[in-house]
Amino acid sequence: MASGSALIFDEEMSDYKLLWTDPVCEIEVPERLTVSYEALKARGVAERCKQVPVRLATEQEILLAHSEEYLEAVKQTLKMSVEELKAFSKQYNDVYFHQNIYHCATMAVGATLQLVDSVMKREVRNGMALVRPPGHHSQRSAANGFCVFNNVAIAALYAKKTYNLNRVLIVDWDVHHGQGVQYCFEEDPSVLYFSWHRYEHRTFWPNLPESDYTSVGKDKGSGLNVNLPWNKVGMTNSDYLAAFFHVLLPVAYEFDPELVLVSAGFDSAIGDPEGEMCALPETFAHLTQLLMPLAAGKMCVVLEGGYNLTSLAQSVCQTVQSLLGDPAPQLSGLTDPCESALDSIQNVRSSLPLPAVLSLILPLAYEFNPGLVLGVVGDSGAKTHLAPVWGHLTSLLQGLAEGRTLTLLQVRDIYFIKPFQNIHLLAVTVSALSGAPVPPLGPLGAHKPEDVQMMEKERQRLQKRWSSVQEGWGLLRCTGTTVIPQFTKIFYGAYN
Ligand SMILES: [Zn+2]
Repeated sequence: MASGSALIFDEEMSDYKLLWTDPVCEIEVPERLTVSYEALKARGVAERCKQVPVRLATEQEILLAHSEEYLEAVKQTLKMSVEELKAFSKQYNDVYFHQNIYHCATMAVGATLQLVDSVMKREVRNGMALVRPPGHHSQRSAANGFCVFNNVAIAALYAKKTYNLNRVLIVDWDVHHGQGVQYCFEEDPSVLYFSWHRYEHRTFWPNLPESDYTSVGKDKGSGLNVNLPWNKVGMTNSDYLAAFFHVLLPVAYEFDPELVLVSAGFDSAIGDPEGEMCALPETFAHLTQLLMPLAAGKMCVVLEGGYNLTSLAQSVCQTVQSLLGDPAPQLSGLTDPCESALDSIQNVRSSLPLPAVLSLILPLAYEFNPGLVLGVVGDSGAKTHLAPVWGHLTSLLQGLAEGRTLTLLQVRDIYFIKPFQNIHLLAVTVSALSGAPVPPLGPLGAHKPEDVQMMEKERQRLQKRWSSVQEGWGLLRCTGTTVIPQFTKIFYGAYN
C-alpha cells in the first residue's frame, strides 16, 4: 500500500521576475516559491517528504492543453529583449514574460507530471508540487493572470491518457476563478471541476459571466463544472468549510474520482492583497484532510497563487502536514456561514443536479469543536456494503479534536457470527484510524425524494436543538435521530 507524501520543488523556478514597472504584476515575485520551501524546511516538514526531482515537460505534454501556435510563440520569448518581452506580454491579460519563463513554465508542468506519476504508480500516497509560474488561468492559446501553461489541466489530461482514468476531480481553492481549467473541461464528462472565487457580482477580475454559478458545464459535461462565486470579501473558516460540506463533498462523493488534483492557490487565505478573505492557514489543513478519503487517497496538490508571503508559507505548511497525516489544528469559533456565503451556496446547489441532502454530521460536529470523537458501530455497520461508509465517516471526522478518535466496534462476536463481515469492518476501521486509504464507495446513486425530505427535516430539528446543546452540557450524541446533552465535551458519533 502506498504511503508517504512527495514534495516536488526546484529553486530554478524562482529564476524569473518582472523586469519593468507594472502595479498589477508586481505581486508575483520569486520569493513566493522560496519562502514556501524555506518554511517547510524550517518546520522539519520537507525532510519528512519524499523529495522527487523535477523534470522538464515534453512538447507533446504541453500540447495536451495548448495549441502549437501558442507553444511556438512562448518559445520565442527565450531570445527576446526586454522591450520585446514587454510588447509580447501586452498581447495577453495580466501576465508578464521574461527570458527564463519558458524554461520555468516547462519545469512547472514537468514537476506537476512527476507528482502525478509518483501518486499513480503508488510510490507515494499523495504530494505537493511547489511550482511557478502558476497555471489555472492559462488557456489553449493564451497566457493569462501570471499563468503560462496550465499545469493542472495538463496533469488531468496526462493522467487520463497515461493511466486510463475515467474520473478526475479538480478542486480549485485559489481565490480567482480558474477559467482556463473550466474552458478545457466544460464539455468533458470525465473531469469534475470545482472552483470558489472572489466574484463580487462580476466586479472582480477576471470579471467573466462564465465564472458565475450558472456555468455548470456543457453537453456531456453538464453538471460537472461547479462555480461557487463569493460576492463579498472577508469570507471566514466557517464559510470555506460550509462550501466543502454542502457543495464540494456531496458532488465529489457522488462523482467518485479516481484522482484528486488541487489547484492550491493561497490567495484565499487571510492577509492576501488579492483575496481579502479571512480564512486562517489552519483551515487549509482541514480542507486537505476532508479531500483525502476520496480516490483512495490519491491526491496531488499543485501551487497556484498566494501573494502574502507569510500567510502563503503558513498555508503551504498546513497543507503538506495534513498530506503527511498530521492531525489538523482545532478550529474554534466556527459558526453558520454568513448570509452572502449562504446565498452563494444555495445558488450553486439550486443550479446543479446535486444530491439534495445537506451535510449533517460534519457541520454540527465542527461547530461543536469536540475534545474527543468517540465512534460506535454495531452489527448492521458490519454489513459488507456499509463497512466502507463507516470507514469514510471515521476518516472525515478525524479533522476534529486534533485527530483524537476512539472507536468501539459493538459486534456480538467478531469470530463466530459473520466473521468475514466483522473482520472486514475491523480492517476498514483500523485503516481509517491510521490515516490509510479507505476503499472508495463507488459512484453514489440518486437519493429517493422521501429520503431527502426526511434528512432535511432531521437537520432542521437537530439544528434547533443544537443551540441548547451548546449552552454548556458538552456532549453531542449523534445517531442520526437524537442529540442528547451530557456531561463531558465529547462527540459521540453512532452509526447503527
Ligand atoms: Zn489567484
